[in-house]
Amino acid sequence: MCNKFTFAVMSLLVIGSVAFDAIETPFGKTDKIIGGAATYISLSSSYFTDEVKLVAVVGGDFPKEDIALLEKHGVDTEGLQIKEDEKSFFWSGKYHNDMNSRDTLVTELNVLADFDPVIPSSYQGSEYVMLGNLSPDVQRKVIERMETKPKLIAMDTMNFWMDIAREELDKTIAMVDVLIINDEEARQLSGEYALKTAAKKIMATGPKYLIIKKGEHGALLFNEDKVYFCPALPLESVFDPTGAGDTFAGGFIGYLAATDDISFDNMKRAVIYGSAMASFCVEKFGTESIVNLSKSEVNSRVQEFIDLSQVEISL
Ligand code: AMP
Repeated sequence: MCNKFTFAVMSLLVIGSVAFDAIETPFGKTDKIIGGAATYISLSSSYFTDEVKLVAVVGGDFPKEDIALLEKHGVDTEGLQIKEDEKSFFWSGKYHNDMNSRDTLVTELNVLADFDPVIPSSYQGSEYVMLGNLSPDVQRKVIERMETKPKLIAMDTMNFWMDIAREELDKTIAMVDVLIINDEEARQLSGEYALKTAAKKIMATGPKYLIIKKGEHGALLFNEDKVYFCPALPLESVFDPTGAGDTFAGGFIGYLAATDDISFDNMKRAVIYGSAMASFCVEKFGTESIVNLSKSEVNSRVQEFIDLSQVEISL
């Protein structure tokens, strides 16, 4: 890829699903297309660092050209297991008219059902880790299998795991630095409606930082008593929100790995970069809008975010 945003020495280990998705939105429907949390995270973070290292599993049915697409983006696929005789993870979802909520129609774990993540020795020493949506015990295994403690571990999860693996999930959440979830998930996880109270409760269980995404209403970053809000950009076309959360996570952690600065102020910038990447994602179906971005497109989108809320007020 020649469209890198910046070059970094910090390695980013990414785990999560690499999948087939079938999506239905008010604007159209797809057959099986490439998706999965780790796919979106890897593509998005590849605009910030050349050192994206993927740990995931697919079946023999997964197209070689889609693996080649990740590699073209500089993603290291040594840790991508291919189970020739099995089927890839499949997820299908249907969005409601407001596009802010969706129903999961199908979740076929297939290869993910007994996924044992293997971390190649060349991935050891990765400073940044992004645990994309996956069963929490697999996410935890990855942390336990890192020989040196990463500088920052961020994690995403979803209501599916809260419903079926709450105990495992709590154990994994206790081990991470940043948890990235949406408002509905924050409410379910904490049992609190007010997001500030929810955030306090969740941070008390382990993560020092919490990001609560609110779809087209932006994202909140919490740390101790501090809170930062990044709006979402009003867009001319919103086509398919699938993967927006993962694309956000990829931009967020990719920017942190590229700048190697985990201060609260830099995390604010990372939230803007994550939001900018997610804003591209929703403009087309699947990964289509994030496979061929240029540095200047990313930069001007970030500038739009800055302009959106910048104001001088004298009090
Ligand atoms: P997002 O829209 O950011 O929540 O992410 C959607 C992606 O998550 C899709 O590409 C799915 O393949 C993937 N996904 C959905 N459910 C799961 C699950 N239970 N475990 C892992 N990945 C999932």
